[in-house]
Amino acid sequence: MTTTVEGGCFCGAVRYRAARDPELCVYCFCSDCLKRMGSDGYAGFMVDEDTFEHLHGDTAYVAAEAASGRTVKRHFCPECGSHLWGETELGLVSIAAGTLDEPDLFQPTMAAFTENALTWARIPEGLEGR
Ligand SMILES: [Zn+2]
Ligand SMILES: [Zn+2]
Repeated sequence: MTTTVEGGCFCGAVRYRAARDPELCVYCFCSDCLKRMGSDGYAGFMVDEDTFEHLHGDTAYVAAEAASGRTVKRHFCPECGSHLWGETELGLVSIAAGTLDEPDLFQPTMAAFTENALTWARIPEGLEGR
């Protein structure tokens, strides 16, 4: 049985591997996520950092304070600009779910900052905001 999933950026330069079983799947509607994804929210496939492996391809990153007050180091591909993952201070790596080879592994278990969601946001049904 496969216990890992791989993923990478649009151009294929950057690849990673991570646990197939995420700790958490968060759909986030905070203003940072709206801005950096350019969409209604961000789908974060959160895995334990010990299971995350950066396979190849240099990333560029920005370290910024998140709405939570914690610093997140956000990695993206310098070639194609795909947002890839964020290193949080909680021991979790937040992978942009759309970059997984099997993006359907993301099944949202939590919606964050729904009070900030846009009128056209697709808030996953049955999820309580936080
Ligand atoms: Zn790329
Ligand atoms: Zn967010």
